[in-house]
Amino acid sequence: MNLPLTDKVAIVTGGSRGIGAAICKKLAAQGARVVVNYSSSPDAANQVVEQIQSNGGTAIALRADVTDSAQILDLFNQTEDRLGTVDILVNNAGTAEYGTLAEITDESFDRQMNLNVRSVFIASREAARRMKAGGRIINIGSSLGEAVPMPNMSIYCATKFAVAGLTRGWARDLGPQNITVNCVEPGPIDTELNPADGPQADFQKQRTALGRYGKPDEVAALVAFIASPEASNITGATLRVDGGWGA
Ligand code: NAP
Repeated sequence: MNLPLTDKVAIVTGGSRGIGAAICKKLAAQGARVVVNYSSSPDAANQVVEQIQSNGGTAIALRADVTDSAQILDLFNQTEDRLGTVDILVNNAGTAEYGTLAEITDESFDRQMNLNVRSVFIASREAARRMKAGGRIINIGSSLGEAVPMPNMSIYCATKFAVAGLTRGWARDLGPQNITVNCVEPGPIDTELNPADGPQADFQKQRTALGRYGKPDEVAALVAFIASPEASNITGATLRVDGGWGA
C-alpha cells in the first residue's frame, strides 16, 4: 500500500516520550522510516521503536543531546548511513522551567534557550545542508509563543516566540529549495512536562475553548499532515492545535 510518507526519512528530536513519541508513531504509520531521538531515556525510545516495528513500520532509536552541534552532526550522519537522507525534521525536544524574573538563574535561562532555541537552529541548519526539494522542517512551538497569559514563564515563552520567528525567516531562506518550514503550536497537552493533573492544570483547561487538555496524538495528526505531500503550499505558518486557547 502506498502511504503518504512512503520512502520518506524522518528525524524526530525528543521522540522517546510525550508529544515526540506520538509524532514518531504517526509518521511511521504514514510510511516514513523514523529516527526516534532521545538524550537520557533509552528504554522509552526503544519502546517506541518496538511499537512501530510491531505495527509493521521502520524505526531506529538514536541518542544525541540536541543542544550539542557535534552530536547533531553525528545524528544526521547515522541517519543517512542507516535509513537515507533526511526528508522530514521535527524539532520537538523542549523543556519548560518556572521562575519569577527576580529568581530565575543564569543556568535555567541557558538550559531553556539551549534546548528550545539553539537545538532548533543547529538541527535545522544541518537539515538545510542536506535536504532535497520537498523537504519539511516542522518546529514544535507553543501557544505560549504567541501570548503570555500567566506569570513566571517568561523565559519559556520567549523561547517559543523565538521558534515562531525563526520559522518565518527559514521559510523565506529555504523556499527557493522547495523546502517548507512550519511551526506547530500546541496548547496544553497531557505529558510528563505538563500533566493534566498538575498544579497549573485548572487554569490551562479553563483557558481553552474546549475546556480540556489535548492529547499527544492530536498534535501528531497535524504534524503528519504538514509532513505530507498534500501540504506542499504551506510554509512559514504557525498552526495551532490548542483546543481554542488562542481563540
Ligand atoms: P516531555 O514529555 O518532557 O518530553 C520531552 C522529550 O524531549 C523527551 O523525549 C526527552 O527525551 C527529549 N529531550 C529532552 N532534552 C533533550 C536533549 N537535550 N536532546 C534530545 N532530546 C531531549 O515534553 P512534551 O510535553 O512532550 O513536549 C514536547 C515539545 O512540545 C516541547 O518542545 C514543548 O515545549 C512543546 N509543548 C508542550 C506542551 C505541553 O503542554 N506538553 C505545550 C506546548 C508545547 P529524554 O527523556 O531522552 O531526554
